[in-house]
Amino acid sequence: MSIIASNFKTNHTRKSTASFVNEINEFLKSNDILSEVYVFPTSTALDSFDTVPNLTLGVQNAYATQKGSFTGEIGTEQLDEFAIKTILIGHSERRHVLGESQSEIAKKFAFYKELGYKIIYCIGEPLEVKQSGLEKTLEYVYEQFEGIDTNYENLILAYEPVWAIGTGVTATNDDITSVHSAIKARIAKPLLYGGSVKVGNVAEICALDGVDGALIGTASWNVEDFKQIIENTKDL
Ligand code: PEP
Repeated sequence: MSIIASNFKTNHTRKSTASFVNEINEFLKSNDILSEVYVFPTSTALDSFDTVPNLTLGVQNAYATQKGSFTGEIGTEQLDEFAIKTILIGHSERRHVLGESQSEIAKKFAFYKELGYKIIYCIGEPLEVKQSGLEKTLEYVYEQFEGIDTNYENLILAYEPVWAIGTGVTATNDDITSVHSAIKARIAKPLLYGGSVKVGNVAEICALDGVDGALIGTASWNVEDFKQIIENTKDL
C-alpha cells in the first residue's frame, strides 16, 4: 500500500486548503481507497477536519516547545487545538533555505518523538554531492541521521535529493533504487521518494523496489492532479 504525502509549502489559503482536504476525503471515501494519504498545509490553514482514517493532516514545521517566546513559530499548544500529531522534519528547504542545522533538527525530532508524533523525516543530498558519486551521496545522507532515533516506531523516511526538489528534474530509477536500497539495508522503515514526482511518473517510481510511496510538492497542489496521483498508486 503506497503512502502518498502532499507538501503545500507556502501555497493555498485557509479556504482553498479546506476545499482541497474535503475533496480528497470524499475521493478516498467514495472510491474505497485505502492508501495512507497525508496533507501538510501551511500553519495558518490547520484545522480539525472530519476525515477517513487513512487521510491525515500534518504540520510542515513547528518549534520544539509547547508554547513560549519564539516569534514566528508554533508549538504543541497550537497543534493540539486541531489534534495534529504528524510533523515533517528535516525538509531540504528548512535545512538549506532556512538554515536549520542537524543539531536543531535532532532536537526537534527528539521533542516530537517524545510526544509520540508521526514523523516524516527527510534526507537528501545537494547537486555537488550527487555529482561526486554514490559513496559520497550515502555518506552525506547518513550524516543527516546524526542524533536521530531511526528505530522510532512512528517514523517514515523520505529521500528527497535537493537537486530534484521543485526543479522538474526527477532522479532516475537507478538513482532512486541505489540510494533506497542502501538506506533500507540500514533502517527498516517506510521510505518515500520525493523530488519532482508528478502524475505521469508517480506509479513507476512507487513501483520501484524499496520505494514505499512519494512525498510530493508542486504536482500535488492541484486537487485534480493529487487525486490522479492517488488513483495511479492505489494498488501498489
Ligand atoms: C517537496 O517539497 O518535498 C517536494 C518533493 O517538492 P516537489 O515535488 O515540488 O519537487
